[in-house]
Amino acid sequence: MSARIALPEPAALAEAAERLRAGELVAFPTETVYGLGANALDAVAVAKIYTAKGRPATNPLIVHVASVAQAKTLVKTWPALADELAAAHWPGPLTLVLERANHVPDSVTAGGPTVGIRIPSHPVALELLRLAGVPVAAPSANRSEEISPTRAQHVADSLGAFVDDLLILDGGACDVGIESTVLDVTCEPPRVLRPGMCLPPLAPLVTPSGSAKGDVARSPGQMLRHYAPKKPTLVLGFGEKYTQVEGDAWLTLPATPEAAAQALYVELRRLDSDPHVARIVLPVVPDSPEWDAIRDRLRRAATPRHE
Ligand code: AMP
Ligand code: MG
Repeated sequence: MSARIALPEPAALAEAAERLRAGELVAFPTETVYGLGANALDAVAVAKIYTAKGRPATNPLIVHVASVAQAKTLVKTWPALADELAAAHWPGPLTLVLERANHVPDSVTAGGPTVGIRIPSHPVALELLRLAGVPVAAPSANRSEEISPTRAQHVADSLGAFVDDLLILDGGACDVGIESTVLDVTCEPPRVLRPGMCLPPLAPLVTPSGSAKGDVARSPGQMLRHYAPKKPTLVLGFGEKYTQVEGDAWLTLPATPEAAAQALYVELRRLDSDPHVARIVLPVVPDSPEWDAIRDRLRRAATPRHE
């Protein structure tokens, strides 16, 4: 069991693409977080993702594609709204949930009738997808429930002991820093299943009335505890009374939601591995739509284990 971090030079990219085509796993950077990818049309390859992550089979994967044309090969119907959203937000941190085509393996969709798809904007991800020529199913490249990786080294730290000879393409720090917005466009009106940094520009399209704010429905895979440090973690403002104890450390976040998203997982990791920190106290963030995704991640990080 081991991992190898490689700069995304032509030889490493070609090797990564070849590995994907051969049914092996590859970790790669996206603008949201690092992904652990497998050929989405190869059920045996996809099964390796679940094993490596210790991920429950009920949690579907997002399929990454290089073009809208490739996205269309994975679905039964491609609504006009998908065209509009793809034109406005792809490549970018928006996942569209659509009716799946029959040949998409059950392991990708967790047995459900829909598939989540996006075109990532990170140049290394795009180049890898083009070279591989296959759609790539990729959840975040970390053990299940742990904090998502936003640096290549985070992937090695989390998965190095669970995958043999894992190739990790190093694309530097992730620009967005938290997972994509997941939008179900199979229903009317469309529903946000997971908030992400693509939420604000979508709001007028999704809910002219603004009524979907906070309407983050439970969906397959919307596990309550997720993105979580190993240490006890609490967030104020969700019903917890705060009494300071020795070893408490406050997470501080930058003032804008974009900068806060970029910093969130790096800061959580830092506090989680600091031997002087016994407990992590998370901040309350503004109650406005631009902060929805960060509020969501803070809430999940603070959910006790075994819930
Ligand atoms: P991850 O890649 O680890 O961030 O997880 C992908 C997440 O996307 C899942 O946990 C689901 O919340 C969501 N997702 C992916 N595909 C679907 C789908 N077909 N239906 C509903 N949610 C999905
Ligand atoms: Mg994840």
